[in-house]
Amino acid sequence: MRVDIITLFPGMFRGIFQESMIGRAVASGKVTINIHNLRTYTSDRHRTVDDIPFGGGPGMVIKPEPVFEALKDIKGRRKAKVILVSPQGRPYHQKCALALAKEKALVIICGHYEGFDERIRRGLKPMEISMGDYVLTGGEIPAMTIVDSVVRLLPGVVGDPESIENESFMNSRLDFPQYTRPRVYKKMNVPDVLLSGNHKEIKVWRLREALKNTLKRRPDLLNKEKLGKSVRPIFEEVLKEVKSHGQHK
Ligand code: SAM
Repeated sequence: MRVDIITLFPGMFRGIFQESMIGRAVASGKVTINIHNLRTYTSDRHRTVDDIPFGGGPGMVIKPEPVFEALKDIKGRRKAKVILVSPQGRPYHQKCALALAKEKALVIICGHYEGFDERIRRGLKPMEISMGDYVLTGGEIPAMTIVDSVVRLLPGVVGDPESIENESFMNSRLDFPQYTRPRVYKKMNVPDVLLSGNHKEIKVWRLREALKNTLKRRPDLLNKEKLGKSVRPIFEEVLKEVKSHGQHK
């Protein structure tokens, strides 16, 4: 995959894509990440990227010309999915990360100040992505989030694909609780089943706990229809358990 990020603050990306799993994906050539300084695509002496809004009001607006020029300059951009990060976009989800992981190339445009001249939206018709219902200073952190969540889904980036299959949001549910050594910590024990060596029982326990977790924390994620035949009876049991526990509180 190739990722191009257009930003006013390239320095913010220093280090982030060199560390950990994404760093290894870059080093092994599974992904190429190019950071473009929007100021490079200006033609005036002062390298102006923003201007006051027509109609008045506070703040500065990112001008359309440098963004269009940057897009024109990016190699292979015709085949790339162009993304504009904005609080006005569609809320970002794992499903979206999965879809983006199938693309060959992404271009991510980061905003700043009051946002973008509307003609950037009208002319480029980008996919607009929001990181949630809050406002950040700029689009750099959302761009980092998108790249991280997408690159870890590329084949071979995460060592064991099973760890992705069971992750939160992958099966309309959250992940199950994890434990590691020591077996007892501050009088809290690791559940016996995890020490039993019985992999069948461990699998069922994990599924039950994942369903319980989801029912308690994010019931909106559960889609009974999508649970699958073998999971549904376990879900019904867990549901009863959670309900009766709630009544007894
Ligand atoms: N005036 C804009 C509004 O109210 O919709 C907010 C502009 S914000 C201060 C500057 C830039 O940060 C945006 O253009 C966008 O690129 C980025 N940004 C801020 N919050 C974001 C969010 N929740 N998701 C994605 N990008 C965000």
